[in-house]
Formats: sequence, C-alpha cells, structure tokens
Amino acid sequence: MKIPKVTRRTFLEVSASTGAVAAAAPRLLNAMENDLGGRDIDPVTAVERRAVPTGCHVCNIQDGAIAYLENDRVVKLEGNPEHVSTRGRLCAKGNSGMWYSYDPDRILYPLKRVGARGEGKWKRITWDEALTELAGKLDAALKEDPNTIMLKYGRNRTGGTIDRFMQTLGSATVVNHTSVCESSKKVGMEPTWGPDIETPDFANAKYVLNFGSNVLEASYFHNPLSQRVTEGRIDNHMKIVTFDVRLSNTAGFSDEWIPVHPATDGAVAL
Ligand code: SF4
Repeated sequence: MKIPKVTRRTFLEVSASTGAVAAAAPRLLNAMENDLGGRDIDPVTAVERRAVPTGCHVCNIQDGAIAYLENDRVVKLEGNPEHVSTRGRLCAKGNSGMWYSYDPDRILYPLKRVGARGEGKWKRITWDEALTELAGKLDAALKEDPNTIMLKYGRNRTGGTIDRFMQTLGSATVVNHTSVCESSKKVGMEPTWGPDIETPDFANAKYVLNFGSNVLEASYFHNPLSQRVTEGRIDNHMKIVTFDVRLSNTAGFSDEWIPVHPATDGAVAL
C-alpha cells in the first residue's frame, strides 16, 4: 500500500476540510438521522415495519413518537419527525418505553400479600375483591380522620377526577410529582413571569446564564431543550455559564462552571 506523502500544504488542506465538516456536523447529522424518519426496516428480513404514530407516556411530557410493529408487536420506538418539539427524537427513557408493556414482571391483575411483609408471597384476587377490600379500608380511615388517607400520584391526566375524589373523601393529603420534583421551579417562575413552563430559544441565544438546571440530562422538556442547547453551542457559538452546586453534565458542557453554595443562587443572581 502506498502511503501518501504528507506535506505542510496537504496537512492544512485536510485540516481545513475536516474542520468544515465538523462545523456543519449538527445539520449533517440532522439530515442523516431524519432520512429514514417515519420508516423502519427489519435488518434481517428487509421487510418494512408497520409504523403507528403514538405518544410517549414514559414521562409527563408525552412526546410524539412512532411505534414500529412486526406481527402486531412493537419492536421499536422512535421520535415522530413531524413533532414540532422533538423533531424525531426520543430520549433514552422514551426509546425503551415499550418495555412498560412487555416487561415480563409487569403486574396485570390485583395481587394480595399472603405471607409476611417482604416474604414475597402473593395470591391473585379479582378486581371485585380488590375494590371491596380497599373500600373497607377507606371506610375505616374516614371514620377515624379523612386526612389519614393520602394519595400519591405522578401527573394528573384525569381531568380533575383525582382532586374531586380526594375532596369527596375530605382529605387534603395529596402528594404528586410537583411536590417532590419541581416546586422550587414553580415558586421561582410563577411570580417572576407567570407560566411555570418555559421554552427558551437556546438555538438562537448568544449568552446563557444557567442557574442550577441540568438541562442536558434532566430538565423539563429535556429532549427538545438539550437538542437546542447543542445547536446553539455548535451552530450559533452560544456561550453558556452554569451556576450549580455540583459539576453536572451541563456544567461540564458549559464554558464556565461557577460552583455556588446551596440555596445561594438568588443572592448570586441579585
Ligand atoms: S422526555 Fe423522554 S420519556 Fe419523556 S415523553 Fe419525551 S421521550 Fe418520552
């Protein structure tokens, strides 16, 4: 094999062309990724899989997705390229979402513990038995104090049914996703400008001050926002400065990480 001679001139030419490719990478990758968007082929049989538009329910964001089926079984999930927010991408959790349906340990019917707690012994009961037992326990608790009944749920997608149910019981002991996840965000954002869910235009921003948000991994709308943060950095040369008590992945990705003491973000901002 003949090894080409590398001169200063050829080295500079190659560097310049690879640099140009790297600079265009996000758009190139975009084009390459979306080439097959909305279609998927079985790699063994080369048969096109049936595509069914759906929504990802692995978290509350409910991104637009496409399920690909073979023999009426979902074999792959992917973002829907028509979805304005995700533009054809799901996050890692969303990509694995079909295992909520196909997990071999998924509980499909009511089970009642028959051994000691922790012993792992259960028996299958009917829905009628389960509901009668729960109603009896609720009745007993109502006689004692309704507020001893606590309901913990994730996101309320019931159009208010959960709240009405608890109000009917007379209990105010409700804990949900917001209580444990994003209450500080709501407390900060609602008095500041109203909505508690923001849609920053990262892709066109030039300078971002990021207080405590690990937007590349775990923030609200993480998939759509992290795409746009990356685009802003690569395409628009956005600068990002992160104030965080820890070196999160977003802090590591930032131009500057300024470690602050816990709960001093507000003082720093002032
Ligand atoms: S953020 Fe991830 S888990 Fe949540 S809806 Fe989107 S793809 Fe699904």
